[in-house]
Amino acid sequence: MKMGQALVGGHWRDTAERFAVTDPATGETVAEVADCDRKLTTEAVDAAASALPGWRAMPAHQRAVIMRRAAELLTGRAEAIGAVMTAEQGKPLAEATGEVVAGADHLLWSAEETRRVYGETIPSTSTDTRIWLLPEPVGVVAAITPWNFPVSMITRKLGPALAAGCTVVLKPSELTPLSAIAVAECLTEAGFPPGVFNLVTTSRPQEFAETIMADSRVRKVSFTGSTAVGRQLIRQSADDVKRLSVELGGHAPVLVFPDADVTAAAAGVARAKFMNAGQACTSPNRIYVHESVAAEFTDELVRLAEAITVGNGMDPDVTMGPLIDDRALAKVRRHVEDALTHGARLATTHRERTGRLHPPTVLTGVTDEMLVCRQETFGPVAPILTFGTGEDADVVARANATPYGLAAYLWTRDLGRVVRVSEELQFGIVSVNGAPLAPPQGPFGGVKGSGYGREGGRHGVEDFVEYKYVNVGLGR
Ligand code: NAD
Repeated sequence: MKMGQALVGGHWRDTAERFAVTDPATGETVAEVADCDRKLTTEAVDAAASALPGWRAMPAHQRAVIMRRAAELLTGRAEAIGAVMTAEQGKPLAEATGEVVAGADHLLWSAEETRRVYGETIPSTSTDTRIWLLPEPVGVVAAITPWNFPVSMITRKLGPALAAGCTVVLKPSELTPLSAIAVAECLTEAGFPPGVFNLVTTSRPQEFAETIMADSRVRKVSFTGSTAVGRQLIRQSADDVKRLSVELGGHAPVLVFPDADVTAAAAGVARAKFMNAGQACTSPNRIYVHESVAAEFTDELVRLAEAITVGNGMDPDVTMGPLIDDRALAKVRRHVEDALTHGARLATTHRERTGRLHPPTVLTGVTDEMLVCRQETFGPVAPILTFGTGEDADVVARANATPYGLAAYLWTRDLGRVVRVSEELQFGIVSVNGAPLAPPQGPFGGVKGSGYGREGGRHGVEDFVEYKYVNVGLGR
C-alpha cells in the first residue's frame, strides 16, 4: 500500500495535511491519507489533460492490453484488497473479495469493448456527399464515487471511460480511499501512461467539486452517490455545460406474486437486502407480498435473517458487518422506531448490538406512509407490505409511487405478468426471479430521482463518447 498517497501524473504524492480512515467495526484509525487541496486537484487535471492526446491516439488493441493487465492484477490481489476494503468499509471479507473480483470483471469487459467503439456511415441524400460519424472520447473525466462499493463503483466508471479513450481524475469517498489506492497501484503496475489515471484523495469533496467544475478542461463528471449531492452537481455543471452522469439513491420495491416460488423469493430478498448490511442503492426497501403467501414468505425471510452472523467483517464466521458510521446507525434506528410507533411489528428476534452493528430486521404490518417506505433506509431492515387478489395494477402503482427509479424486483412464474409488470414499473432496472442486477454487460442506471446515465455494457461506454458528424463534399 502506497502509504495513503495520491496519484498525480504517474507520481505518488503526499501532502502536509492527512486525514484519518476509520474501521467502522472497531472505531480505530486504519491509516492516514493524503488530503489533497485545490492545487493538487488542478495538477491532476493538468496531468489528465496532457495525457489525453496520447491515450486517445493509442490503438484500441494496445489500450485493451493495458486494461486487461490491470483487471488481472486486481483479480490476483482480490483477497489482499478485500482485506483493505473490510478494514475501512466493514463488509465481510468474503463479500469484499467478491466485490474486487466483480470489479475486475468490469474492467475486463471494458478492455474487450475498447476494440468495438465503432463509428457509422449514414446514407447521404446526394451522390456527392458522404456522412460519417466518428466516435471520439469526451475528454478529461472527473469521477466521484461512494463508500458502499469502494472498488466496483470505481471500475464501473474507469473501464468505460478508458475504453472510450478518456483520461480520468478519480475522487473516492473520504471514508474508503484505501481501496481506491489499491486499485491505483494495480493500474500503475499495469502500465498506464502517466496521467491517464489520477487519484485525488481528499476530505473536502465540495472543494474538489468546485475545482473540477470551474476547470473547462474537464468535459465530463461521472458521479455515484446521494441524490442531494447529485442535484448540487447538476446545478454546478451548468456554467461550463459539462456532460454529467449521476447514479443516485434508490427505493427498490419487490413484488412477490402468489404464483412465485416463495422459498426462492425469500432467499433472493434476503441476499439483496442483507448484503453489505443493506447499504446498497439497489437494496429492497419495500417488499410487497401477496397476502396468500405472506405468512410463508415472512417465516422464510425471518429464518434467513436470524441465521446471519453479525460482527466484525474480518472474522470469517461473520456474514454481516457494521454500518458505516454513527449517523447511518441512527437513521436505521429512527426508521425502525417510526415503523413500530405507527403499528408495524417486529418479526425477527431483535437483539440489540453494540457499536455500529444493527441486527437484520424484518418488519410486518408496514404501510406505505411509514418513513421506511419513503426514505432510503440504507440498513438491514426488510419492511413487508401486502396486497390482495385483483390488485396487480394497484401494487404496481404503489411500487411506482416514489421519487426514485433505480431498481425493482419481481417474483412470478406467470410469463404474461413478467411482461406486463416489468413494462409498467418505472425503474431503470428490473430483476425478475432473482436475476443479478449488475453484470458488466448490463446498462445499470436509474430514472427519475435516481439519476441518468448508464454504467456497464455498450451503453456505458457510449456515455463517454462524443459522435462527431462529418459531412464530406466530394468536390465533383
Ligand atoms: P454521498 O453523496 O454522501 O457521497 C458520494 C461521493 O460524493 C463521495 O465521494 C463524497 O465524498 C462526494 N461528495 C459529498 N459531498 C459532495 C459535494 N458537496 N460535492 C461533490 N462531491 C461530494 O453518498 P454516499 O453516502 O457516499 O453513498 C451513498 C449514496 O450513494 C446512497 O444514496 C446510494 O443510494 C447512492 N448510490 C447509488 C448508486 C447507483 O448506482 N445509483 C450506487 C451506490 C450508491
